[in-house]
Amino acid sequence: TPALEARGLTKHFPVGRGKVVHAVEEISIALPEATVTAVVGESGSGKSTLARLLTGLIKPTSGELLLDGKPVGTSAKALRAYTSDVHLVLQDPFSSLNSAHSVGYHIERPLKLHSDVRGAELDAKVVELLDRVSLSPGAEFAAKYPHELSGGQRQRVAIARGLAVRPRVLLADEPVSMLDVSIRLGVLNLFDGLREDERLAILYVTHDIASARYLADTIVVMYAGQVVESGPAEQITDAPQHPYTQLLLSAAPDPARDQAPELRGSGSPPSLVNPPSGCRFHPRCPFAMAVCKEQAPPSLPVGTDQVAACWLHSPEHKAEADAVSAQI
Ligand code: SF4
Ligand code: MG
Repeated sequence: TPALEARGLTKHFPVGRGKVVHAVEEISIALPEATVTAVVGESGSGKSTLARLLTGLIKPTSGELLLDGKPVGTSAKALRAYTSDVHLVLQDPFSSLNSAHSVGYHIERPLKLHSDVRGAELDAKVVELLDRVSLSPGAEFAAKYPHELSGGQRQRVAIARGLAVRPRVLLADEPVSMLDVSIRLGVLNLFDGLREDERLAILYVTHDIASARYLADTIVVMYAGQVVESGPAEQITDAPQHPYTQLLLSAAPDPARDQAPELRGSGSPPSLVNPPSGCRFHPRCPFAMAVCKEQAPPSLPVGTDQVAACWLHSPEHKAEADAVSAQI
């Protein structure tokens, strides 16, 4: 049983004049303990909305969440229990800490809220958590203020704060994208260690498929609010079966560069107010066939534990797919 599972999660946001943003469409995802699952996609792919839906703090339009196989209740009590099990680490380590309070205060607060630990035991716990995220000596870091820390150190404080409540699941939305390139690897390695040591189920949201390959066991590729391909990380990066994953890999960012590069190939992600018919990737896809504009492709098995939502892999369309591929 996965620690956290989402079934058929869908989120539509009304944006006025009867328009609706189709941000997340029918996503099912399982996060087993002691594994990292990366959700990869361009900005506007719905990956951050997916992470927020998994926090339980925004309500899906439809679909459900299961923690350890049990549906998550909707009462305030059920939600409180859920939010101590599932913790979100945000992208911006600068806005996530209050400059008026010490590092120690930030770690103490969740401990006081969620446990009976007080006094000297509480101080010791704070130090232990800071040491756990390699802010050592912990006692020294506890006395510091956010402005005295680097971005990487702040992100480590945010992670320590998350660990204070002993969550089962850590959701990390672009946790290193605002950090200097030189310190990103250190934070990724921290997540790597936590997966094993704390047996955490980690969701790593990123636009950078190279870092996903480095850290993740499983990669889920999102495009325009939908999952287009998923499977074991090495398989997805060595033998991608969906044209969008292939495009992402051909444009994989240079680790020395800060921004996600523009993808090679024409076009940009579509508006989610009026997503393209059929396969949402068809306007950008070099392999698009007649069926692609008309019908959304089903998820098809394309390897061991690997699935792709693409008509190229449907036996029904094999002849046409071979003909299109031969022309490219
Ligand atoms: Fe391209 Fe068609 Fe596959 Fe979509 S379903 S990715 S348009 S070939
Ligand atoms: Mg985002």
